[in-house]
Amino acid sequence: MEINLISDTVTKPTPEMLQAMFNAKVGDDVFKQDPTVNAFEKMVADLFGMEAALFFPTGTMANQTAIKLNTNPGDQIICDKWSHIHLYESGGASANSGVNFNLLDGSRGMITAEQVKDGINDPEFYHTPMSKMVGIENTTNKGGGACYEISELQKIKQVCVDHNLKYHLDGARLWNAMIAKKQQPKQFGQLFDTISVCFSKGLGAPIGSVLLSDTATMHKALRVRKIFGGNMRQSGYLAAAGIYALQNNINRLADDHRRAKELGAQLEQCSWVAVVEPVETNIVVFSAQPHIKDQEVIEKLKQKGISISLLAKGKLRMVTHLDYRQVMHEYVLEALEKMSL
Ligand SMILES: *Cc1c(COP(=O)(O)O)cnc(C)c1O
Repeated sequence: MEINLISDTVTKPTPEMLQAMFNAKVGDDVFKQDPTVNAFEKMVADLFGMEAALFFPTGTMANQTAIKLNTNPGDQIICDKWSHIHLYESGGASANSGVNFNLLDGSRGMITAEQVKDGINDPEFYHTPMSKMVGIENTTNKGGGACYEISELQKIKQVCVDHNLKYHLDGARLWNAMIAKKQQPKQFGQLFDTISVCFSKGLGAPIGSVLLSDTATMHKALRVRKIFGGNMRQSGYLAAAGIYALQNNINRLADDHRRAKELGAQLEQCSWVAVVEPVETNIVVFSAQPHIKDQEVIEKLKQKGISISLLAKGKLRMVTHLDYRQVMHEYVLEALEKMSL
C-alpha cells in the first residue's frame, strides 16, 4: 500500500469530479465569457457574502494579488513570523509589491489584536515603513493546522479599522477551520477586505484558488492577475472541479480531522515520539526523541509505504486528505503502533 501524507495537495480528482469537469460549458474567460468560471466566482462570492470573486491558478498568486492591491511599495505587512506569505511565496511580496514585513512572534502561527496594535508604526514618523496590511492565516500551515476564534479576528479587525489597515485572510485551509470550529463563510466575509481560498488542498480539486473582495477591488484584481500571467482561457473545466468540490467535499473534512486526531493519539503512545502538537484540523506535527534523526523516522515509515514530510528541523508532519481512506488509516495506525526506533 502506498500512502502519501506529505500534504493535502496530493489528491487526484475522483471519477465524479472528472465527469463534472468533462461536462462543463466553457468560453474564453479572459473576455469573461466562460459561463462555468462566472458561475463559480459568483457562487464563492455569495457563499462568503462578498461582492466579487476571481478565479486564480494558485493560492500563491491569489495572495500575491491581494498584497499588490492592498499595499504600495515601501509599505509594511504585519503578520505572524510563520506566515506562508512571508516564508513560502519565494519572496514574492518584495519582488512583486516592494513591501516588507513586521513579523510577529505569535502562537502556532496565530497572532493577537494586542500584538498587531503594538506592531503598527506611527504613520507620522516617516523613518519607518507605513504599516498597511495585516495578514492572517487560517488554518495555519506551519502552525500545524491551528485555527482562530472569530472573537480574536473581530478584535484584530477593530485594530485595522482604527489604524486604517487592510485586512487579508490567507484561507488556503479556511474550509478546515470552518468545519472544525463550526463557523460560517459569511462570518469571515464580514471581517476581511480580501480573502483567498483554495480548492486544491482539502477539497480535492486539481488546481485553483479564489480571491474575494468588493467589486472595485476585484475589478483592479483583473489587471493584477493579468500582470502576474494568471489570466486563463477555457478555465471553466477547472472551475467545474471547484464547483463540484464546494458541493461535495466540504463536510467530509470532518473525517480528515478525526483521522488526524487518531494519528496524533497513536503517536503519543509511541516511545520514540517526544512531542505531538495539539491536533485541531487535518495536520499532525510531531517530533521524535532527541537521539533520533528526523530522516530516520521518514525512512522507516517510507519502508512501510508511508510518506511524511519534514516541516522544519525536529518537526515532522502528516496531513490527512480526501485520498487517505479508512483502510489506509487503519494500516498506518497499526504500523505506528508496531514501529520502534
Ligand atoms: C498552500 C498554501 C498557499 C498557496 O499555495 P499554492 O500552492 O500556491 O496554491 C497559501 N497559503 C497557505 C497557508 C498554504 O498552505
